[in-house]
Amino acid sequence: MAEGNPGMTGGQTQENLIPGVKHVIAVSSGKGGVGKSTVAVNLAVALQQLGARVGLMDADVYGPNIPMMMGVSQPPEQQDGKIKPAESYGVKLISMGFFVPDDTAVVWRGPMIHTAIQQFFRDVVWGELDYLLIDLPPGTGDAQLTISQLIPLSGAITVTTPQEVSLHDVRKGMMMFQKVNVPLLGIVENMSYYVCAHCGTREEIFSHGGGERAADTLKIPFLGRIPIDPAIRMGGDNGKPIVVADPDSPQSQAFRSIAEKVTAQLGAGAEAGTGSSGIESLLKKIKRPLSS
Ligand code: ADP
Repeated sequence: MAEGNPGMTGGQTQENLIPGVKHVIAVSSGKGGVGKSTVAVNLAVALQQLGARVGLMDADVYGPNIPMMMGVSQPPEQQDGKIKPAESYGVKLISMGFFVPDDTAVVWRGPMIHTAIQQFFRDVVWGELDYLLIDLPPGTGDAQLTISQLIPLSGAITVTTPQEVSLHDVRKGMMMFQKVNVPLLGIVENMSYYVCAHCGTREEIFSHGGGERAADTLKIPFLGRIPIDPAIRMGGDNGKPIVVADPDSPQSQAFRSIAEKVTAQLGAGAEAGTGSSGIESLLKKIKRPLSS
């Protein structure tokens, strides 16, 4: 039988903090600014558009942009001493951004990150969800570890730009998830190419095919390419993601195709262990020491 690791879990037994959630998916990136939050937002809404019940947890303590990107300015309400998530475009959402005033500089230390994320699982009324997406801070820090200790993740998606420097960090990030037994759902290559609005020429600003090569090397799925496009940036700035603002555009179709690939993978057996799959898949995910 697999053994738990009290060193990793602080000696706690693994209590199911979100029993109504079928699949928890981490959205990660090796570095900041590659479009991780943009992908998380559009993917969450695309999953909702496919008919799923979706939640989005903004755990990017260093830059919690999700409320802005989802057009939410009101903080969430309380319900029986718990937090009722905000809701936008049919997606339930919670963010560090709701609790830390914009102009406050917070130095996030490991235990603070742990406590905040734990509260997001324990004290937020998520209800029944098919997918809870977690927008992680970039890199391989405390938030990643905390989440992989607290709940059984169905998998991790990594967002990268195509060039080699970004991809180097992708490999490190993916190895971290592998070490804590989190399935790797695949790589999304963002800002893959630019199509000139005037002449239609396709420019590969950040090189070509790096995301797919990294997926091949790591033997994990390549989920798709998202172009660099002013409409995607505007969607983020205006609080209306492109999959809502222009659902029939090729950019939105690219996000929907990624959402379909993710649901297909999870439907094909990678159960979270949080839903109906029970003790067997929970046992598989009991944490091992990082050094093993
Ligand atoms: P991260 O979460 O990786 O730090 P963000 O999602 O916050 O990155 O994106 C950084 C900036 O790049 C934002 O202004 C966002 O609107 C923009 N952006 C992200 N992806 C695209 C894209 N495919 N095309 C155009 N702009 C993009």
